[in-house]
Formats: sequence, structure tokens, C-alpha cells
Amino acid sequence: MSSSTSSSLAGLVVAVDGTSGSGKSSTSRGVADRLGLRYLDTGAMFRAMTWWMLREGIDVHDPAAVAARCDEPVIVSGTDPLAPTITVDGVDVAVGIRSDEVNAAVSPVSAVPEVRTRLLELQRSVIADDGGIVVEGRDIGSVVVPDAPVKLYISADPSARARRRAAEQGGADVAATEASLLARDKIDSGRATAPLTMADGAVHIDTTPYSLDEVIDQVVDLVERAGAHP
Ligand code: C5P
Repeated sequence: MSSSTSSSLAGLVVAVDGTSGSGKSSTSRGVADRLGLRYLDTGAMFRAMTWWMLREGIDVHDPAAVAARCDEPVIVSGTDPLAPTITVDGVDVAVGIRSDEVNAAVSPVSAVPEVRTRLLELQRSVIADDGGIVVEGRDIGSVVVPDAPVKLYISADPSARARRRAAEQGGADVAATEASLLARDKIDSGRATAPLTMADGAVHIDTTPYSLDEVIDQVVDLVERAGAHP
């Protein structure tokens, strides 16, 4: 990375949206690392909220119960792409937020408008800190940073997504993983508030035929061109 490139990218926001298991996270982290940008995993914030709701014994299928308590947990995200962190009330939840229980509960919790309002505020405050940033989620280019100069929509075939995600989870059952991913996609795309959608101006990348490095190369190219011509 040249110093002129890094200074032209200093305040750049790269918005990355897409379906579960499409390669968004690995791509976003790889791009942030290559370009010296920060990285924010907004899915981890929704997962952290869900983890806390489950620990408190709140019925995650009762939107009013979820809305009534969603201001309570203190969620803090670290933005180093090589070592992203997430804590809730000071507890490291990086492992806990990837459990089957959280996988099953996160989409209903994320559909509650009050949860989205709370986390939108937190996301925008992290983004506003110093330095360019790659932000990944479902509504980043459409709602969180609609004026981001680079917007991506990342997808992949469901079977490829399930194979990758099952491998990441140490050989989990591929059919069950695919069913869980598709169930989340359905709720995330169908909800009334901030559904998963391809934002206006987003570049669509279907990662199915590409290696991770090839996708990172494509995105780095796009970002460098946007940084050169903001
Ligand atoms: O990205 P990840 O799969 O970890 O996201 C987990 C869940 O968090 C998604 O299935 C979705 O319900 C929710 N989410 C969201 N908006 C975002 C990021 C994630 O609703 N910006």
C-alpha cells in the first residue's frame, strides 16, 4: 500500500451487504487489512444483543419484550480486521455469539425496530471515529451509510455457502447448516424494517466461482478507484 493510497482512503467507508455465509466477513476483513482500514462486523452486534437477551431469559419471539430491554446491554466492538473483538457488559462473547441458540434467535431479534435503532446509533458512532472503515451487514449501503462511496452486495450459491460455513464450524452438518442459513435469509429479506436488499449503486459480486483472494483483489481494485476519485 502506498502512502498516497492510504491517505486518500483515510475517511472512506466501504459498505458490504449480503446473505449469510456468502464470504462477506472474510472478504471485508481481507480488504480492510490490505488497505489499512478499520473493520466493523455489524452482524456481531446483533448477535451480541441476542446473546444478552437469551442470557436474561427474554422471549426472543416477543418483540415487545425484546424492545423493552434492548437499551440495557453495553456492546463494544473492536475494529482491528486481524483481531476483531466484541464484548457485552465487559464479557468477551466472540465465541458465544456463534452458538446454534444465537443462530436460531438472531433474525427475530434483529427484526425488532427498537433493536435496529439502538444498534444504528452505535454503528454510526464507530464509523464516525478516525480512519476509513469496511462495514459489513445487511442494511449498510441502504440504511446505515447510504452515501458510502463504495457499496458491495456479496452473494453465493446456497450450497457453496453451507459448505463453507460448515467447514468453518469444524465439519458441522452441511444440510442443517444450509437450512439454518436459508431460514435467516428469509426473515432478513422479508422484515419490514431495514430488510436485506441490494442498495442503490451497489456492485454485485457472486463469489461462488472465485477464491477468497480473487474476491479480495476485485474489491481492493474497486476501493482504490473510488479512493482516487471520491
Ligand atoms: O452477518 P451475520 O450472519 O453474523 O449476521 C447475523 C444476523 O444479524 C443476520 O442474520 C441478521 O438477522 C442480523 N443482521 C442485521 N443487520 C445487519 C447485520 C446483521 O439484521 N446489518
